[in-house]
Amino acid sequence: MKLPRGKSLAVFPGSFDPITNGHVDIIARGLSVFDKVVIAILMNPEKKPLFSVEERVRIIREAYRGERRIKVDTFSGLLVDYAERVGASVIVRGLRAISDFEFEFQMALMNRRLNPRIETVFMMPAEGYSYLSSRLVKEVFQLGGRVRELVPPVVERRLQDKYGPGRPVVEPPRRRPRS
Ligand code: ADP
Repeated sequence: MKLPRGKSLAVFPGSFDPITNGHVDIIARGLSVFDKVVIAILMNPEKKPLFSVEERVRIIREAYRGERRIKVDTFSGLLVDYAERVGASVIVRGLRAISDFEFEFQMALMNRRLNPRIETVFMMPAEGYSYLSSRLVKEVFQLGGRVRELVPPVVERRLQDKYGPGRPVVEPPRRRPRS
């Protein structure tokens, strides 16, 4: 995808297995700064994902149906090569906590070394999502926990399709009204 001159395009790369509201938060922040965001799903044969790459593309497209500033794509190989190919000058990554920092810092500096024209921008999600990860969503769902506020509705439906409709969902305890 090549953009007209003067338009900014950012790549948001990741596994998105599955996309969570933490990703959605970062994508919204990306759209507030850049004209377009490409959600780029890494095809990594070494990882054993829950959702195939094709399923993840379909899920994200459904979550962003009608949003013309979002594009969903897949890539393999070097991220900076992919970014260059699609005409992006920025890589967006989310920073949840200090624990993300070391790895992200290394990656950003390596990517800069590989291609100094491409800048990495870090964005912080709303506090409520700073503990959220795709891995945690999968674990909680498999154990019968509620993920409704943590993922787009299409993801909850696809998780139900994967694990079967009979899987019990444990509702959180009702808060007692304050007297
Ligand atoms: P990766 O395997 O590349 O980390 P992920 O799909 O887990 O792929 O994450 C993609 C990007 O989204 C990363 O920059 C990650 O830090 C960010 N991210 C993931 N979960 C959250 C969250 N809850 N809040 C903010 N950023 C997040």
